[in-house]
Amino acid sequence: MECESFLEHQRQMPTTLQIRNIIDRIAARQLFCVLTWIYRRLERDAYLKPYHSLGGHLLVGLDDTQYCSSQTIHCECCSSRTHKNGTISYFHSAILPVIVTPS
Ligand SMILES: [Zn+2]
Repeated sequence: MECESFLEHQRQMPTTLQIRNIIDRIAARQLFCVLTWIYRRLERDAYLKPYHSLGGHLLVGLDDTQYCSSQTIHCECCSSRTHKNGTISYFHSAILPVIVTPS
């Protein structure tokens, strides 16, 4: 760390919102190679070994979430939903894979 204090280091770290704003501009398919690289490194260094189960497989649960939901602010990448009363909600979605084990 180049900061004088841990608190200052924390202040200089990008926020989740800043990371989302950067990643939202990138097509998902462009991130696949990054995810593959991360997965191979985790496997190579045995970080995933404790999570192998049921014959050496990784169980992955999928969930989704929406964020940046608004009826006024939106961008060209937003998904939208028209409600019965005619209002439109704009939002971004994400799939959240989580490695799980029976134990
Ligand atoms: Zn948007």
